[in-house]
Amino acid sequence: MPWRGHPNAYAVWISEIMLQQTQVDTVRPYFHRFLEAFPTIADLAAAADEPLLKAWEGLGYYTRVRNLRKAAQQLMATAEGQLPRTAEALKQLPGIGSYTAAAIASICFNEAVPVVDGNVARVFARRNLLTDDFSKEPNRRQLAVWLQPFIEATAIPGDFNQAMMELGALVCTPRNPKCELCPLRPECQAAQQGVQSDYPTPPKRKALPERKSKVVLLKNETGELLVARHLGERLLEGFWELPHVDKLPFKPSAPKVCGTHRQTFSHFRQTLTLVSAKLPKKMPELGAEYCWVADPTTLPLTTATRQILASLEEKGEPQRKKARTK
Ligand code: SF4
Repeated sequence: MPWRGHPNAYAVWISEIMLQQTQVDTVRPYFHRFLEAFPTIADLAAAADEPLLKAWEGLGYYTRVRNLRKAAQQLMATAEGQLPRTAEALKQLPGIGSYTAAAIASICFNEAVPVVDGNVARVFARRNLLTDDFSKEPNRRQLAVWLQPFIEATAIPGDFNQAMMELGALVCTPRNPKCELCPLRPECQAAQQGVQSDYPTPPKRKALPERKSKVVLLKNETGELLVARHLGERLLEGFWELPHVDKLPFKPSAPKVCGTHRQTFSHFRQTLTLVSAKLPKKMPELGAEYCWVADPTTLPLTTATRQILASLEEKGEPQRKKARTK
């Protein structure tokens, strides 16, 4: 992993934030591109909305990148652009919780503070036959207290934490754990009883509310696509999307349903019906929340819009065209 052994605490910070709720393989290319675009805390603090969101486009959970910039601005204003060296101080920054603070403080500054992520929790739920719900912060804190003497007994706390996380990620995997390779096998109660798949106990999930909406594909006479600024979810502020039919200041002509797009967010499920339509004969003046764009991929797009346009392009209906030259 490119961030392992990285001498720069800033890079470790970026990687840990990207890895929250996102798989390693997805993060890898984003990590390189983000550091190229914003190589220092000062660059991140000064980042404008559009390039910042573009660099994060597709990773989801956009509050993460807004908090990164907010924290960078705070560090520039109060700490000469330097990250604090203890988990307690790191936790005071926007977007840094116990897990990320422990990871940065141990890996970059050698502080003996245990990291408890989903991977570490899985290892110890199995080793000790724990039935706690480790998606809950108090249970993670309890596990951290239990791990404290073990990390204090090691010479390099960062290595201890990384070894634990990678034991969970690579050996004690959610399905088919490779117990024959595991150094904890002699003491692992789940392996001894053959009940690895019963641990950890899955968290109880609530049914998510459903949201439905119609979005429209509209092109002007030069083939440019109409996009709208996302309004509504604060976390998607600054992103562009296909316009929602019920929010348009005009009625599109000859609408024809041409597809459906479903997406699950952390707090709701969304179904978008895709409609292709024509412009009405008489078009009203459009406000700044709309724009005509020759190549929508140059804008930060919501995931739904990006996926819809990519799938149309795959089906041979390219939404991009070269920018007009006058
Ligand atoms: S022995 Fe198997 S179940 Fe137990 S911690 Fe190791 S990999 Fe996980």
